[in-house]
Amino acid sequence: MDMEILPLTEKKPLPKDESSLVFGKEFTDRMFLMEYQTGRGWHSARIKPYAPFILDPAAMVLHYAQEIFEGLKAFRREDGTVALFRPADNVARFNRGARRMCMPEVDEAFFLEAIKKLVKIEEEWVPRSEGTSLYIRPTMIATEPMLGVRPADQYYCYVILSPVGAYYKGGLAPVKIWISDHHVRAAHGGTGEVKTGGNYAASLYAAREAAAKGYDQVLWLDAKEKKYIEEVGSMNICFLYDGKLVTSPLHGTILDGITRRSVLALAREMGREVEERALSIDEIFAGAESGRLTEAFGTGTAVVVSPIGQFTYRDKTVVLGDGKTTGEFTKKLYDTLTDIQYGRVPDPHGWVETL
Ligand SMILES: *Cc1c(COP(=O)(O)O)cnc(C)c1O
Repeated sequence: MDMEILPLTEKKPLPKDESSLVFGKEFTDRMFLMEYQTGRGWHSARIKPYAPFILDPAAMVLHYAQEIFEGLKAFRREDGTVALFRPADNVARFNRGARRMCMPEVDEAFFLEAIKKLVKIEEEWVPRSEGTSLYIRPTMIATEPMLGVRPADQYYCYVILSPVGAYYKGGLAPVKIWISDHHVRAAHGGTGEVKTGGNYAASLYAAREAAAKGYDQVLWLDAKEKKYIEEVGSMNICFLYDGKLVTSPLHGTILDGITRRSVLALAREMGREVEERALSIDEIFAGAESGRLTEAFGTGTAVVVSPIGQFTYRDKTVVLGDGKTTGEFTKKLYDTLTDIQYGRVPDPHGWVETL
């Protein structure tokens, strides 16, 4: 498929103050868009000025939430070049999500090239200050105007870019976690392993409840027994337990995070044993009290690693360490991963793709 590059009609000013960038609020001058029609396939791929869509009010995405998205970042490296982190993994996950949501798959090589081309054209938007990046949001939505419940036969697949500030301004800071004993994020057989909008809409209520009680994030338990740890907010979760890295297995209800995957690989290289197993809430409380559980952290593209300082379940709270200091291993993983992303150290894994 060819890709057209349409002229820019209006140029926005670049962010004046990179330190005040708010996550996902500002977008670059251009976007990528292609359209799908059953029988015709994907067509009309183009890079065009960033602009609102005209959508029919009956567009199926607005009613039945047939949509998927991705999130990855472009980093400005020490030598001024720009690199993406494991972008082919995001494109592959996008297609796995498309299959689960009965949406058309994209040509992975073409879509990856389209993302790279868009970032290349918008390169000046990749911020330069420490810890900043350009967040990339590939998305697919069902556009067919139709109120019947069935897979649509028209779609948009697009990519938008947003310059984002440093997540941690004053260094890594441990967060307070509230464990919900009532709301669940995903059940077996559902769509928990897909980056699809409905999962996030369903998570808002518990997140708001946690925030109202003064916590930073919700920890989700499994839907069946409400006993095993699944994810935290929209991050995967890892524990340092008996010196081993323990994380929930990929059994359909949690996202197969690319940061999770990278952290597990790095931990193994650092000589840590890695266990992908269901960890129970009792083990967390007992482990924190006995000292067997020393560190815990969330992982995801936006934060890389987010240290956890304390857990609260019903009326019980346990604190890890002093609750305010990031664990040594958590910090080491964060430093190693960000050093690779920003090109401060070599990348022996081939995770980084320069443009
Ligand atoms: C995106 C996401 C993650 C993290 O995935 P990364 O590929 O590491 O960014 C984890 N859990 C949920 C629910 C997510 O949406």
